[in-house]
Amino acid sequence: MAEPVDCVVVGAGVVGLAVARALALAGREVLVLEACEAIGTQTSARNSEVIHAGIYYAAGSLKARLCVRGKALLYDYCAQRGVAHRRCGKFIVATTPGQVAQLQSIRERAAANGVTDLVLLDAVQARALEPALQCLAALHSPSTGIVDSHALMLALQGDLEHAGGVVALNAPLDTAECAQDAIDLRAADGTCLSARTVVNAAGVGAPALAARFAGLDARHVPQAYFAKGNYFTLAGRAPFARLIYPVPEAAGLGVHLTLDLGGQARFGPDVQWVDRPDDLHVQPERGDAFYAEIRKYWPALPDGALQPAYAGMRPKISGPDEPARDFCIQGPQDHGVRGLVNLFGIESPGLTSALAIGEWVVSLLSKQ
Ligand SMILES: Cc1cc2nc3c(=O)[nH]c(=O)nc-3n(C[C@H](O)[C@H](O)[C@H](O)COP(=O)(O)OP(=O)(O)OC[C@H]3O[C@@H](n4cnc5c(N)ncnc54)[C@H](O)[C@@H]3O)c2cc1C
Repeated sequence: MAEPVDCVVVGAGVVGLAVARALALAGREVLVLEACEAIGTQTSARNSEVIHAGIYYAAGSLKARLCVRGKALLYDYCAQRGVAHRRCGKFIVATTPGQVAQLQSIRERAAANGVTDLVLLDAVQARALEPALQCLAALHSPSTGIVDSHALMLALQGDLEHAGGVVALNAPLDTAECAQDAIDLRAADGTCLSARTVVNAAGVGAPALAARFAGLDARHVPQAYFAKGNYFTLAGRAPFARLIYPVPEAAGLGVHLTLDLGGQARFGPDVQWVDRPDDLHVQPERGDAFYAEIRKYWPALPDGALQPAYAGMRPKISGPDEPARDFCIQGPQDHGVRGLVNLFGIESPGLTSALAIGEWVVSLLSKQ
């Protein structure tokens, strides 16, 4: 006999927790099923922890809208809940004349997204702020920051539980059957639940999980691709006070420098397309290619200064030769299954956007 529940959120990463919190604050009874033995151990623990300003994304896209809205919500939330963060700012640096022209188009794209605080600096102005930097010009984004993602997830879990929600750990969802009035769920240990609402926030596993939902038309399940991002930490003191990004490349943002709240600098992530989402080993030799990239903007990088650190997996829904896709958030209006929301392709800026994705999902479900 299936146990009746109101809402089930599958996945306790930052997005699943933010969605669960939003549903609980909207008065819903929420159960989060998490396959691992702790919250936030997958992609949400393996990223740059950057609060993105919302600069690069196509105007009107979900990435643009949810990033800009999410950034504002996140800064307020961190301040209210005492989650460690710092509005440290970032430079996007041009090191060739062609890239100088690109800075202008990046600034225009940002403005179309409502990000109007970018300041174009010449080389002298940039070096006055960051003396170790070599560039021809730079865009300064003052609203970019960093956040302690683990403290954020604990705060979200705390809010969820305070509002009556529950997180079940070691509880992988296996299959589901979508019926007229409820979605019947079967966990891997055989437990059966009957839920009014199900949100699939399973990260890199979301397409594979959705493919096991009987009653959901397979046309609505995108093909999953995995783009690993490897990081290397810098031995010694960080040379910059702000985050330093090159002008972006095709599938990622280029080998950039980010800082953690302890002041440790790391470089990455690069882009390595792989076949399996659990392929998270960092091959030390991948660091060799980092040196030349980094020295374009920081010529003083010493030989041997980079140590392999960790890797994260981008939950892609477009392949290496295709244009990057937007976040894909499918509600009942999209796939016709009452009570079901699938979150696909929630790559960067998913951490920044998490609170806004929570609002979005609540609103999607209220329209069905
Ligand atoms: C290299 C890299 C760098 C990034 N940098 C940034 C950044 O600086 N700023 C930013 O805004 N964003 C960044 N992102 C994006 C951000 O990390 C993600 O968008 C975000 O963490 C996604 O959270 P999630 O909750 O969707 O996924 P996850 O954190 O992966 O959580 C999914 C959860 O679902 C669970 N799960 C899976 N299958 C099941 C199942 N069947 N049953 C139960 N549970 C299940 C998993 O165990 C996992 O805990 C980056 C991403 C990568 C890969």
